[in-house]
Amino acid sequence: MSVREKVKEQVSSGGVIFREVDGRINVGLITRTARSGLTVYCLPKGWIEKDETPEEAAIREVREETGLTGRILNKIGEINYFFYSDKKEKIVKDVHFYLLEYISGITADHDEEVDDAGWFPFEEAIPLLSYKNEREILIKAGDMIRNIISK
Ligand code: ATP
Repeated sequence: MSVREKVKEQVSSGGVIFREVDGRINVGLITRTARSGLTVYCLPKGWIEKDETPEEAAIREVREETGLTGRILNKIGEINYFFYSDKKEKIVKDVHFYLLEYISGITADHDEEVDDAGWFPFEEAIPLLSYKNEREILIKAGDMIRNIISK
């Protein structure tokens, strides 16, 4: 007898927002409290609304979760992972990540969905991120940023 698991697919969007301060690249990260009670460091990301493109959702999620507004320069890539919801459903999630150049805003204006938001120097931000797939996205973003700045 086989038991078929109920699987739900979700698509989200997120971003790496950056700026240069005194010749150093800084990126915007958020912290959340995981179900275990531990603090996790993440890239800002979230649900794509029905009337939104993935790009619009990335700009909105970055703005809501970090307080920072940016403009998209490029697509970085996608990650996928799964988890079990409170209703014990398996959720398979794809997240599109974009590179955003900082325009305006302050991290104190992050919303209540996150515990905190802040700017971190790029090199410090990589080991802080809790999920390997987001560390890989940030490393790829770093290569893109260096490429843009050297032009
Ligand atoms: P939303 O969909 O509104 O952004 P959410 O909390 O429902 O919010 P996630 O942030 O995807 O959705 O978190 C759901 C689960 O997936 C949590 O258990 C979280 O720890 C885990 N999770 C979050 N990001 C990742 C990731 N990059 N890689 C693996 N697991 C992750």
